[in-house]
Amino acid sequence: MKIKTTILLIALSLTVISCFKKVPEEPGRKAEFGLVIHGGAGYINPDTFTGEKKQKYISKLKEALTKGSSILEKGGSSLDAVEAVINILENSPLFNAGKGAVFTAEGTNELDASIMDGKTLNAGAVAGVKHIKNPISLARLVMEKSPHVLLAGDGAEAFAIEQGVELVDSSYFFTEDRWKYYLKVKKEREKKNISFAKENRDEKYGTVGCVALDKHGNLAAGTSTGGMTFKRFGRIGDSPIIGAGTYANNNTCAISCTGHGEFFIRNVVAYDISALMEYSKLPLQKAAEKVVMDKLVKQGGDGGIIGIDKYGNIAMPFNTKSMFRGFMLDGKEPVIKIFK
Ligand code: ASP
Repeated sequence: MKIKTTILLIALSLTVISCFKKVPEEPGRKAEFGLVIHGGAGYINPDTFTGEKKQKYISKLKEALTKGSSILEKGGSSLDAVEAVINILENSPLFNAGKGAVFTAEGTNELDASIMDGKTLNAGAVAGVKHIKNPISLARLVMEKSPHVLLAGDGAEAFAIEQGVELVDSSYFFTEDRWKYYLKVKKEREKKNISFAKENRDEKYGTVGCVALDKHGNLAAGTSTGGMTFKRFGRIGDSPIIGAGTYANNNTCAISCTGHGEFFIRNVVAYDISALMEYSKLPLQKAAEKVVMDKLVKQGGDGGIIGIDKYGNIAMPFNTKSMFRGFMLDGKEPVIKIFK
């Protein structure tokens, strides 16, 4: 009788203890497949960014999301979706990537891009290319057809020729809007006698990125950019730096960044979010917020990120006024947002 009571008491206390024990947060599956995109963070004024202009951006972002989602829906890979989505945004003059890239202080265009496969942790990137229409596709070739991760400048373009990639004349990247903005910045800098290093808050960063989860559970991330307006020639930002602007790991998440690149490099932002998930067991949203809304804000690092984890949870925090962003999960309606 006494033994029975003791056993009962032990069982009861174990039940009570287990009720109070903190159960680690295990995110539930949100989607079987899906993707998130960004078209750059920045300081767009919601009062003037309206009407037809706004609609153009929204429909281009929707087109890109729909394309990526259809690839994933058919069982295509997250890498294929990321590349196809970024190609659409690179070919549009609206974004600072491919056609529409911003100008360096010398009035030239130098493009950076990177892509990463979360399944194999393989990655490819190109930096400072001047004649590549779709830098993200060249980054993928670096990943798949070379033993390297990052190729820069002339070497990257020589590799492109070897791979049968057609080079474009540098005039391909000229767009009226970017040129006007370049001239405006140039005038301001000359007037105030400031260098790029001292003041470089861009109105609109406009870089593009995509992260995706496919039906096979594989994550991928990619980023493509013209960099920052009035950058020094030869300056390379975070976008082609694996771990800084782009990172993907099937165990954690896929991340693409946009913002003031130097801060993203110094803080290894994309990898930092993945590391917080891996080592501190933070869910994606909390890890992303810690880095973007806390760490970067304290340092004055403008920008934002998009992320997706293996369960289809997504995050899109940014500490600027605006960030073109959107997502599409399980082939449902695409969602586009620009302001908070
Ligand atoms: N992060 C990019 C860079 O610093 C710029 C951007 O996101 O628009 O080159």
